[in-house]
Amino acid sequence: MDKKALVVLSGGQDSTTCLFWAIDKFGKENVSAVGFDYGQRHRLELECAENIAKKAGVPYEIISTPIINQLSANSLTREDIPVEETKPEGTPPNTFVEGRNMLFLTYAAIYAKTHGMTDLVTGVCETDFSGYPDCRDIFIKSLNVTLNLAMDYNFCIHTPLMWITKAQTWAMADKLGVLDIIYNETLTCYNGVMGEGCGHCPACALRRRGYEEYMEMKKCTR
Ligand code: ZN
Repeated sequence: MDKKALVVLSGGQDSTTCLFWAIDKFGKENVSAVGFDYGQRHRLELECAENIAKKAGVPYEIISTPIINQLSANSLTREDIPVEETKPEGTPPNTFVEGRNMLFLTYAAIYAKTHGMTDLVTGVCETDFSGYPDCRDIFIKSLNVTLNLAMDYNFCIHTPLMWITKAQTWAMADKLGVLDIIYNETLTCYNGVMGEGCGHCPACALRRRGYEEYMEMKKCTR
């Protein structure tokens, strides 16, 4: 029997690239996606994810998790906390939502097991230096073990972007034939601007730097 995979899809560059990676690896008919509604400031994120899933031809469901907003104070969910343009030394930026990936992956795992899926795919990445502790490989491996024990089930968490740079993520998208979709229809910007974004928030800067770097690489290999 084919393995079935569930992608955590937020509508951003990384998770969208992972969606197409999963379709390539598992086959479209074996891939589903979930998104999380936790009261994020930019509702457009969920719409982006929904449109991308539709375009990719995979089922997409939004799981409502407003409790995250109730527990956490951060600039992605709270209107009264502005997004920091530069990251403070030694601490995660204020866009960090404590425990978010742990909760998301746990909810995704429960959903996956309920639907007979074993493989979870997430776009977390240790190399983008955002300083989010729950994006680290060691955390993902630890959670994988914990989920397997918690539910007596053989989950496998895939992190195709864990060790690659933003430029290499663009390269992956290009290889999968979805560079245009990722460039135009994903939302990475902390200020909620689709595609190219606002141009000055940390997420936009990282995304653009990676894109320019990839375009340079492409020129050299032509
Ligand atoms: Zn931006």
